[in-house]
Amino acid sequence: QPSIVFDNVVFGYDPDRTILHGLSFEVSAGSRVAIVGPSGAGKSTIARLLFRFYDPLSGRILIDGQDIAQVTQASLRAVIGIVPQDSVLFNDTIGYNIAYGREGATAEDVAAAAKGASIADFIARLPQGLDTEVGERGLKLSGGEKQRVAIARTLVKNPPILLFDEATSALDTRTEQDILGTMRAVASHRTTLSIAHRLSTIADSDTILVLDQGRLAEQGSHADLLRRD
Ligand code: ADP
Ligand code: ADP
Repeated sequence: QPSIVFDNVVFGYDPDRTILHGLSFEVSAGSRVAIVGPSGAGKSTIARLLFRFYDPLSGRILIDGQDIAQVTQASLRAVIGIVPQDSVLFNDTIGYNIAYGREGATAEDVAAAAKGASIADFIARLPQGLDTEVGERGLKLSGGEKQRVAIARTLVKNPPILLFDEATSALDTRTEQDILGTMRAVASHRTTLSIAHRLSTIADSDTILVLDQGRLAEQGSHADLLRRD
């Protein structure tokens, strides 16, 4: 699995306003790191930089030791699978929505992609079955069901890195716990970065980075952070 390194990254959307002030952190290969912080801290900006929607003003971002300034956006999308907060589903079946991640993907591919996770469990807990119509804009599915489909859609591409971008923020607490279980299962054998504004979302990550106004305020395990408060 690849590691992710932010090495003294400085970034701002406008020249007169710096958003990330020399940010450095590492997500070591195969680990689960989470970034938490209030709205406006710069969390989404980190995700945008990872996909090269923007490039840093200075500093470097390395994936698997390679500066991503040398890597195309298409290659980055193949390496990093993103699960966003609101996944837009097609007005088609669950199977189609999942297979969209990779042309011609089958239920077996989904299972294979989820290898390392509890596969049978993952498939069994997909809502209703692959032939079920999602309904216009996914309205027939609950928020949790939609996120499970979104995770499966990302998994069929078998990306070595997973980026959960507020993946459970729109869910109620019970559903959130359920989806967190799925996220934990599919994270094995992958490098995982979770971005969220709620600590409950990321409590079981190996390392939690607390981002405040574009700077790392604290860093440690959930237990470390609680001890310090
Ligand atoms: P978070 O995801 O932690 O809520 P963001 O990364 O979205 O924070 O935003 C960090 C800062 O960058 C905020 O002050 C926000 O207003 C600003 N910002 C975000 N996107 C843009 C943009 N496209 N143009 C200018 N400023 C932006
Ligand atoms: P493709 O295999 O077509 O290149 P992508 O990886 O670009 O697929 O996109 C997979 C899904 O994630 C799509 O629904 C896309 O809209 C969404 N997506 C991709 N990048 C981002 C991002 N940075 N923020 C939010 N959603 C994204």
